[in-house]
Amino acid sequence: MGSLVKTHKGAVLYGAQDLRIEDCITTTPEDHQVQIRVRATGICGTDMHYFQNGRNGIYVVKEPLILGHEAAGEISAVGKNVTEFKIGDRVLMEPQRPCEKCVVCRRGRYNLCDRMKFSGSASCYPVVQGSLQQFYNHAASFVYRLPDNVSFVEGALVEPLAVALHAVRRSGVETGQSVLILGAGAVGLLCAGAAKIAGASSVNIVDIDEGKLNFALGESRTDFAARIADETLAQPGFGLVDVVFECTGADTCMNIAIQCATKGGKVVMVGLGTPVQSLNIGLAGVHEVDLLGIWRYANTFPTAIELLRTGQIDLKPMITHTFDLEKAADSLKFTLSRPDNLVKCVITCK
Ligand SMILES: [Zn+2]
Ligand SMILES: [Zn+2]
Repeated sequence: MGSLVKTHKGAVLYGAQDLRIEDCITTTPEDHQVQIRVRATGICGTDMHYFQNGRNGIYVVKEPLILGHEAAGEISAVGKNVTEFKIGDRVLMEPQRPCEKCVVCRRGRYNLCDRMKFSGSASCYPVVQGSLQQFYNHAASFVYRLPDNVSFVEGALVEPLAVALHAVRRSGVETGQSVLILGAGAVGLLCAGAAKIAGASSVNIVDIDEGKLNFALGESRTDFAARIADETLAQPGFGLVDVVFECTGADTCMNIAIQCATKGGKVVMVGLGTPVQSLNIGLAGVHEVDLLGIWRYANTFPTAIELLRTGQIDLKPMITHTFDLEKAADSLKFTLSRPDNLVKCVITCK
């Protein structure tokens, strides 16, 4: 361990909407770690749940938590067993640290590891601090080089792109297939891009605003989903599709998705909605529609980086807002207000 002098700034969450910029202790990286001088951190739904409510689902912020798990920066120190990086390298990090020993890890599905540590998350105890700080230590095996033609801010968006690639891989989208995306947020847009690269011939996106999902008087959930699906499919160029990516997590959207899948099609559950829902399993059953679960990603970071390096995906148009670390609380409040023109907000450190 290094000295315990507080020598860098971090954005520390104490509870619901209580985010403070504080001095933090800069520690020397452990033998297998690198220290990253963080330059950019993307803000996503997980961070917003923690900020808004002081919790993300069942995970409550009980001790001060530094948010942030979508990060890029420069190597500022290396642990003594690390040979693949040197000070000054431009990098980005994969925020997962699985055990790398259990059966699921050895099967390559390490995203499902029981002993997962995830950056900027209260899901394990002690909490794993995140990247909304100037210096951050991370296992070198989950750090990747940032190509010269990719900025730090774009590098911060590799994480949501990794989510989209994992969803598209799980879906098995084939050349010429049709795709519908429910939800036009960052992950929805990235799923659309990744599905096109995978060969989908038609990709439609519908933006579903949870606030506008109004039931008619006396309408059941099933009838409601059928009506919204009918309205969606009736638009020019739309129709039943081979694969639906449900990216909203909004209640009833899974039923809309099932209604929009062709017979033998698939519904990919990208958005995490209400855990227990009433689903039209009858329709999914008789139409042989496969429902596929998605949990983060495994082995998709290298592909995501390659797509950026080769220009097959352009993340720049998605970065609609940037804020300095000192203004982290403002940026989270701004994101919480859901302005129409917001796709992705990134917090930068000079
Ligand atoms: Zn995220
Ligand atoms: Zn494991």
